[in-house]
Amino acid sequence: MIYPNTIASKLPNIGTTIFAIMSNLADEHNAINLSRGFPDFNCSKKLISLVNKYMNKGYNQYCPIEGIMPLREVISRKTEEIYSAKYNPETEITITSGATEAINAAITAFVQDGDQVIVLEPAYDCYVPAIKLAGGQPIFSLLKEPDYHIDWEELQKNITPQTKMIILNTPQNPTGAVFSADDMEILNRIIAGTNIIILSDEVYEHIIFDDFEHQSIARYPKLAERSIIISSFGKTFHVTGWRLGYCIAPENLMKEFRKVHQFSMYTVNTPIQYAIAEYLNDKDEYLKLGNFFQQKRDVFINGLKDSNFIIRPALGTYFQLLDYSKISDEKDTVFAERLTKEFGVASIPVSVFYHDKIDNKVLRFCFAKKNETLEKAIEKLLKLK
Ligand code: PMP
Ligand code: GLN
Repeated sequence: MIYPNTIASKLPNIGTTIFAIMSNLADEHNAINLSRGFPDFNCSKKLISLVNKYMNKGYNQYCPIEGIMPLREVISRKTEEIYSAKYNPETEITITSGATEAINAAITAFVQDGDQVIVLEPAYDCYVPAIKLAGGQPIFSLLKEPDYHIDWEELQKNITPQTKMIILNTPQNPTGAVFSADDMEILNRIIAGTNIIILSDEVYEHIIFDDFEHQSIARYPKLAERSIIISSFGKTFHVTGWRLGYCIAPENLMKEFRKVHQFSMYTVNTPIQYAIAEYLNDKDEYLKLGNFFQQKRDVFINGLKDSNFIIRPALGTYFQLLDYSKISDEKDTVFAERLTKEFGVASIPVSVFYHDKIDNKVLRFCFAKKNETLEKAIEKLLKLK
């Protein structure tokens, strides 16, 4: 046996993800779980029967390392139709085990010892561990409250000759902010003449509200030629447990990405790929998603409009931020725990998305839930005075 204290951790300051911690706390206290981002309703029956169909047909073995061609083809068509960008399914699209694997593979493929990676905070929690494991250094740039816009001046100051990558996420988890066409133009100007790679996490590309248009990096040819774009079927089709996502990037970047993907995943779930390839032919299934979740957001915020929470704008994703500073001055981690145990609603304290745990008295609530779940949660949240 190896004596435990002789093992040097590669991630000494990283514990269990907050999503697992708060979900376990919710279960323990029988609270409504609005913490981790997943729907509490089922995915489409048609999609399930398609998976069955392909399992019964015998599509149960390894598939090509890049993913099955029919799925790559349909992603290529979809990307061209929506974002006017052409990606070759042969060489520029890879199916991955969720967005998480794609993010890890992209960071592993490109970030080397001593490279700097700019991360906009508050940030989704899987970027920084991957950067550190690759030997890179995360450099943090703050999104500015209350609407969490990018402070381009600050971001520009963080660019150095060591900057290898900038990670963008729009619509943004946890804030619900969406970046604008102007943001993309400024980014283009700022990085022109550098070798910086953009990692664009677009898992909520179809969950965008109030007539905002998703600014995929794919829309901007000058940016797209140095970008890796990542999306997730888990978010789009309410199947976070199926672990299927994809990555699109120009051939020279994709070639390196695939080197990592082939030895970490080899291939991903075959029958689900066939099912989703067929399902994607009905564009309505993803184009109606924004309206579907906008209605849920509105149920949630309308129900809380007479509460003491301050409702922050949520323009995309399925998360709503609530500022509780009029209710309590407790730390957000303490308040979130008390809210779960005493009031029966679990959320995520936003300080966990900052490396230095900035506490702005804001909690994140997931509204990808049945309306009855949201109504029950609202009733409980209204009790907080
Ligand atoms: N990026 C963001 C911004 C997310 O919110 C999530 C989690 N849903 C992921 C990546 C990971 O997605 P997946 O479940 O497909 O791995
Ligand atoms: N992406 C989801 C969220 O932000 C959860 C993913 C996870 O559990 N790691 O809540």
